Amino acid sequence: MTLIRRVLAVSAALALVSSTALAAAPAAPAASAATPRSPAASDALAREILAELVGLDTTHAVGSAKATAALAARFHAAGFPDGDVYVGGPKPDKMNIVVRLHGRGRGEPVLFNAHLDVVEAVRDTWSVEPFRLTEKDGYFYGRGTQDVKEEVALLSANLLRLKREGYVPDRDLILFFNVDEEAGGDANGVEWMLANHRPLIEAGLVINQDAGKVHAQGGRILWNSLQTSEKVYATYTLATTGSGGHSSLPTRDNAIGRLARALARLDAYQFPVRLGPTTRRYLEASRAYVPAAEAAAIDAILKDPADRAAAERLRDSPMLNAQLHSTCPATVVAGGQSESALPMRAQATIQCRLLPDEKPEEVLATFARVIDDAGVQVSVDWPPLGSPEAVLDPAVVGTIERVTTSMWPGVPVVPAMSSGASDNVYFRRAGLKTYGVSGTAIEEGDSRAHGRDERVGVTAFYESLEFSYRLMKALAAAR
Ligand SMILES: [Zn+2]
Repeated sequence: MTLIRRVLAVSAALALVSSTALAAAPAAPAASAATPRSPAASDALAREILAELVGLDTTHAVGSAKATAALAARFHAAGFPDGDVYVGGPKPDKMNIVVRLHGRGRGEPVLFNAHLDVVEAVRDTWSVEPFRLTEKDGYFYGRGTQDVKEEVALLSANLLRLKREGYVPDRDLILFFNVDEEAGGDANGVEWMLANHRPLIEAGLVINQDAGKVHAQGGRILWNSLQTSEKVYATYTLATTGSGGHSSLPTRDNAIGRLARALARLDAYQFPVRLGPTTRRYLEASRAYVPAAEAAAIDAILKDPADRAAAERLRDSPMLNAQLHSTCPATVVAGGQSESALPMRAQATIQCRLLPDEKPEEVLATFARVIDDAGVQVSVDWPPLGSPEAVLDPAVVGTIERVTTSMWPGVPVVPAMSSGASDNVYFRRAGLKTYGVSGTAIEEGDSRAHGRDERVGVTAFYESLEFSYRLMKALAAAR
């Protein structure tokens, strides 16, 4: 998830329900010694690559070149020819890597993606060294262990394993690890590769392992999320002006007062509930894991999306609320120039997460109608860049379900819309069939992406390694 545009980006699928809400969850299979695992040599290789990557600072300021060089060296050493290992990017320190395992040409390639960059880590807020892999209490600690170097490491280990095993897929298997997912902006690797080297990453199917997660609680695997869509980031500014003057002689046109009235109206407003196919299936699945009152509200919303009482009830669950409609909270406010002067200017930042099909012009029209004051200027700071919801391909979904249950019997695959954003926006805008899928189980309430003491469970990591190995082979098979 990205830092600047997406600082609050948390996949709704990452934290669908609060830990208290999950108290009512039905029995689910527990991860156990019976869960399939990769050979010990593969575990060791994945750990080694994870340690190497975590040890390399790939924050925005430093870049990714050392990581791409390290990975390229491994693929070359394993016998991948130069032509099948591409390293390139818009700047010397902003490198992407694409590795191809050739198949028999029976279908379009399958591409697996994750990003190499990480957000900064403030050393004195961590209990361990952020840029060194530490294994402690059943976890791997370090910046990127959850977002998302663990996926880079296990995908790399799996491709090296497949090569070692002499495996020839029906379709080409491509790994694509990109730079600047977090910072976005001028060097986003997916955007850049699509614009400059699209044939290298052209694929019939994209699996972004940064955009999915397996949900667990107390070591129990609850479900595997399949990200099909994401909300759209958009930022607006409301601005007001006043004539100013001495604070002892107030006028009617107080810029702060006017802005405050606009903000109060906007704060009270709720965008209409609209349920796409993904959200419907997500709500249907999640109702089993929430308290009875929330489950009843979900039932009511599914029956009638215009049921305002039900929507009000679900506002107390920010994760569920975010699934139902576009949201536009105020996040920053500023105004006035002096303690004893009437304010001449005031402004507020409105940070929206729009439903994928929300029309930009309708958002502006909604602001105008709700604020109902021509004296409040609305401007667009960051225009919405939407991406279409991925259609659920039954063959692909069936494969993901089979691989999921081969690992964790009885565990469902649940389509999910991220409330935050991922690189899938670029893939989908380019017309590539793209899903977010990962086999890495994250404990409910233990999402530490971008936070301090970031970590991933050791067992979760190794199980995810095997999940991805199976998924790579299953999706690379001809259909
Ligand atoms: Zn990420």
